Amino acid sequence: MNISKLAKSIAPSPTFALNEEARLLRERGEPVINMGIGEPKNKTPIAAILNSAAKLSTGEIKYSPPDGLPSLKQAVIRYTEENYNRTVEPENIIISAGAKQSLYNILFSIINPKDEVIILAPYFVSYPEMIKMCNGFPVVSMPETGTFYPSIRDIEKVTSSLTKAIIINSPNNPSGALYPEDFIADIVDFCERNQIYIIMDDIYHKLVYDNKKWKPAYQYTNKDIESTMIISVNGVAKLYGMTGFRIGWAIANKKLVEVMGNVQSQITSCTSTVLQAGAEGALNGQQNVVENLRLTLENNRNIIYQEFKSFNGIKAIQPEGAFYIFPDFKAYSGNSIELSQFLLRKALVVTVPGKEFGLEGHLRLSFAGIAKDITAAIERIKWALDPTSPDEIFIGDRKMVRDWL
Ligand code: PMP
Repeated sequence: MNISKLAKSIAPSPTFALNEEARLLRERGEPVINMGIGEPKNKTPIAAILNSAAKLSTGEIKYSPPDGLPSLKQAVIRYTEENYNRTVEPENIIISAGAKQSLYNILFSIINPKDEVIILAPYFVSYPEMIKMCNGFPVVSMPETGTFYPSIRDIEKVTSSLTKAIIINSPNNPSGALYPEDFIADIVDFCERNQIYIIMDDIYHKLVYDNKKWKPAYQYTNKDIESTMIISVNGVAKLYGMTGFRIGWAIANKKLVEVMGNVQSQITSCTSTVLQAGAEGALNGQQNVVENLRLTLENNRNIIYQEFKSFNGIKAIQPEGAFYIFPDFKAYSGNSIELSQFLLRKALVVTVPGKEFGLEGHLRLSFAGIAKDITAAIERIKWALDPTSPDEIFIGDRKMVRDWL
């Protein structure tokens, strides 16, 4: 078959592949617990449903401008004022099919062949693949011992004359780390001085725990929106539990947004107007839906962290935000793909191998589900890995028999 070398080199998204495996197992009646996928359980906020339904019932479902509906852009302008303390204009905003398409648009619009983009391990699985799809090179900066982010010196060391951008995701998928303010301030300073784009993936920015506060990167620069190297990415998927709406956006200088708009106009023309209306409803509606979700997730975070604290041999750092925990399982296996498969087979629990996020020996578990499942999942994992646990257990009427990795 004639398939391009580049396309062949792109890995499938492991989280989606595992999700499908879990779905098939469940269809066969297996009591699988899915700790893999990063998707809040809450229903779509009513304001989003009503706005989408109102749009649909006009029967006028046509193209919008490629860079988004003006009314949704107004909602994003207000969101940016409230959360980023920045006043931006409609020409600084592009609406895309999810934060993912915004990220892809940015990378496509700034990377020349062989340009490098720095990503910080552990990183979101799609970053390296997207960079490669744009003919760039992902350059990975490894974390400092005991943390989930590198030092600014480490970042300086991997920077070269080909470095075009650095992607920062805080709160972070998969580690749950909220990067320290000093660290972000240093990166902003370093990148502004060296004309390197700082792509801030802020998709989890309101899901922060223990009264900690996320701060926008803009606060560390005195440059205006047209001259700063900061590009912000956000969306409704995680904060409002609207993953299926596929609405995200990027905020950047007008020239770059215009280029991204041209790119997007040739690919998708625009994002669905019904779904853009839904996102507008969510942004303009009652914001306590986000706080309610945050509170549920903080409770889940407490449960899962306590479970891992009492788990022999496992090293877990308490997540400060997002809805993932990324414990070190090296005491049981250094091969996270094998371990994840073993846990799916033996304990019927879906986890995502750390290798996919650039940090072998770890597993990512999402705590976006319900508390009861979280406790049950960790109990099963403990049973499967603890040599002193009984050889057989029942999950419902399903007998599970232990074997070894
Ligand atoms: N960035 C990060 C860090 C994510 O975890 C995700 C979703 N897993 C996305 C972007 C994609 O968001 P969206 O669904 O809006 O495309």
